[in-house]
Amino acid sequence: MTGVSADTARAPRIVVLAGGVGGSKFVVGVRETARRRWPDTAGGTRAEITVVANTGDDLWLSGLRLQPDVDSMIYALAGVNDTERGWGRAGESERVAAELHAWGAGWPWFTLGDLDLGAHIARTGWLRDGATVTEVVDRLASRWPLGVRLLPMTDAEVDTHVTTDQGRMHFQEWWTRHRAALPAHGFDWPGIAHAEPAPGVREALAAADVILFAPSNPVVSLGPILAVPGIADAVRNASAAVVGVSPIIAGAPVRGMADACLAAVGLAATADAVGRHYGARAGGGLLDTWLLAEEDASLADGLESTGLRAPVHPLWMRDLDGAVALAAAALDSATLDSAALDSAALDSAALDSAALDSATTAQFAVDSASNGLAVHDLTQKS
Ligand code: GDP
Ligand code: CA
Repeated sequence: MTGVSADTARAPRIVVLAGGVGGSKFVVGVRETARRRWPDTAGGTRAEITVVANTGDDLWLSGLRLQPDVDSMIYALAGVNDTERGWGRAGESERVAAELHAWGAGWPWFTLGDLDLGAHIARTGWLRDGATVTEVVDRLASRWPLGVRLLPMTDAEVDTHVTTDQGRMHFQEWWTRHRAALPAHGFDWPGIAHAEPAPGVREALAAADVILFAPSNPVVSLGPILAVPGIADAVRNASAAVVGVSPIIAGAPVRGMADACLAAVGLAATADAVGRHYGARAGGGLLDTWLLAEEDASLADGLESTGLRAPVHPLWMRDLDGAVALAAAALDSATLDSAALDSAALDSAALDSAALDSATTAQFAVDSASNGLAVHDLTQKS
């Protein structure tokens, strides 16, 4: 305790490394937690939230540049995402996709929604005009007040490829066409050895009070981010507390097919294996703290023996409440780790968890609506 009053306290700089749908649910929770703990006068937050997004999922299709994880993040933060289907824009239609299909263009198994195509066309046009990926992401993100700064991991094109029993292919072909069912033997990101972190990424990590690893796919969402030379070292050397959230609960990825990715790189689909894969900073790894699900409490001792702190929390993001509680737990464990955060943060953390305990879903809906925040049913995602 430094005795700094809440009025003069500096709100934290938070950096989140994140993939698409799972990552964006977590970031929505982080943003809402920050709004409650460190409010500004405009319904936002004084905390600075920087999201470093995975661009390993990016691809060229029918002459257009697609950035699935970047778009998932923007749509979710803007509240225009399709919560029923779990991806893409709400109210989407597929007239153009039907025409492309009739022309025999593109991939018949990869549907491009009409609204989504608007983003792809805008992005491709700007890229053709000479804008960098960072500039393009910034322009896309400026359409709505997202409440976070969104950075791509790199300006370089490093699209994920997969080596399978049937040869090497773009990640999207394996994931979407083959539903990750073709046995895979590894992933690669051509050119990544020469890629650099996007402008601002290293600086954000160096200045951060807290670095959060979203519960995103460790192999194909956070894997590419950490494979950009310089990013893992910036995390290792950061003065911030580094907290990861397990995407695996009770031996299964909560939703989706992350287990196929883990198997392809020889990792078990357990919170233990993924936590050890990131590793403790104390032992040359990346994390100080690895949040485990209650279902995985028995793994805590083993993980702590590797130098990680492994607190146990509910890790389900079934709705906004769940995402907020998870983000609050992640920030709480960072607060305990970090000398950089002041006592006001600790105090508001205590206040916040008290509020969370008594809050009902209805109250959250009212709070969120009054903040101008769209309330989503997050249960259907991915
Ligand atoms: P993608 O890029 O759209 O595949 O999304 P991400 O890589 O960001 O996140 C996908 C991962 O999120 C999945 O592999 C799940 O393991 C994880 N996930 C999804 N929902 C939840 C949840 O409610 N809690 C936790 N802890 N993890 C989740
Ligand atoms: Ca993704």
